[in-house]
Amino acid sequence: MATSSTAHGIVIVGGGLAAVRTAEELRREEYAGPITIVSDEERPPYDRPPLTKAVLRGDRDETTLEPPEFYADRDVDLRLGCGARAVDTAAQTVTLADGSTLAYDQLVIATGLVPRRIPSFGDLDGIRVVRSFEDSLVLRGDAAAARRAVVIGAGFIGCEAAASLRHLGVEVVLVEPQPAPLAAVLGTQIGELVARLHRANGVDVRSGVGVAEVRGSGRVETVVLTDGTELAADVVVLGVGSLPATEWLDGSGIEVDNGVRCDLTGRTSAPNVWALGDVAFWRGGDGQQRRVEHWSNVVTQVRVMVPTMLGRQSLHDVAVPAYFWSDQYDVKIQCLGEPEATDIVHIVEDDGHKFVAYYERDGVLAGVVGAGRPGKVMGARAKVAAGVPISEILA
Ligand SMILES: Cc1cc2nc3c(=O)[nH]c(=O)nc-3n(C[C@H](O)[C@H](O)[C@H](O)COP(=O)(O)OP(=O)(O)OC[C@H]3O[C@@H](n4cnc5c(N)ncnc54)[C@H](O)[C@@H]3O)c2cc1C
Repeated sequence: MATSSTAHGIVIVGGGLAAVRTAEELRREEYAGPITIVSDEERPPYDRPPLTKAVLRGDRDETTLEPPEFYADRDVDLRLGCGARAVDTAAQTVTLADGSTLAYDQLVIATGLVPRRIPSFGDLDGIRVVRSFEDSLVLRGDAAAARRAVVIGAGFIGCEAAASLRHLGVEVVLVEPQPAPLAAVLGTQIGELVARLHRANGVDVRSGVGVAEVRGSGRVETVVLTDGTELAADVVVLGVGSLPATEWLDGSGIEVDNGVRCDLTGRTSAPNVWALGDVAFWRGGDGQQRRVEHWSNVVTQVRVMVPTMLGRQSLHDVAVPAYFWSDQYDVKIQCLGEPEATDIVHIVEDDGHKFVAYYERDGVLAGVVGAGRPGKVMGARAKVAAGVPISEILA
């Protein structure tokens, strides 16, 4: 049965995975009213995970999420190259960059993240981030001419960029102030295994040290570490995190904390306004607000938010363990559940390259992290969802 439509319909602001999957799910749920997607990018919505992987390595030249027919068949009005600049939640309108306004019955905020930059490094050419398709192409172009790269920050983006640059034959130094790569997310023990992987592939991993300064005349030439070491660099990649793209919501009254604050179903503080994906600071079943920057999270949130928007029963009480992956060299690092750096880590397999670790919190299995062991990680899904006592797993 088609849901009754209203005049203005649903406006989705953002041109990424969350926007596209929301539109798709609305039609699957037989929402019959107008759907408009507003994106500030000229490029039709595309997938981001390959940007630090296949696209950077030159193995793929496009990652478009859906062909034009997808939007035409579903009667989705895709407006590219004109971002939202403001929202009036009383009038229920969005103001776009060209000054026009768009009225909505329901608004979905899906604007993702903006990569952090470090202003004190100045605006030297050759300091790169990877968030958009164009960012990836620019870095790929740099890599073709570069001999030495310094990657600042060994989170997922930094680690993947380091791996792809090595693949392209660039000498890479990976600099991380934490004791090991990914240590802030997965803890030092697993971080050390990730450092081992990078070292085995020829990356110079410098942990426990920061960057004091980036020097160059016009273009980056030298990265100075806080211990005084000077590293020559033809290109610098910043992998120092991202911030929610919420500037356009300033003054709207929509509550923004570490992202757009949402309840268990994506409902924001304003009537008829929803948020999901990387920009959203959702409440979990445990009452904690979290902002999750991973692909699968979008898919899970869509399935909760869309039925709720349409007044149907939501699936938010169904326990779906969180999941994300990261491809580095020849291994897929997979994380299931909510592993945290402060958990007790049990490394149950390690052949010097591939490994599996169980994360224990309050005596139960909180998460599983593996490298190159997909069966073992995904096989633990039910146990993670059930929060099985760790003693049972290790028995
Ligand atoms: C390089 C890279 C590699 C990744 N690799 C992995 C991985 O291996 N595994 C994994 O699980 N996850 C990965 N991710 C994360 C995953 O891609 C994100 O979780 C996912 O893209 C989130 O989708 P989103 O739609 O919320 O945000 P986005 O994909 O960022 O989309 C937001 C869109 O909104 C647009 N926008 C912003 N402001 C406005 C505005 N005011 N008006 C209109 N439009 C606006 C943006 O330009 C963008 O098009 C990676 C991300 C990146 C950047």
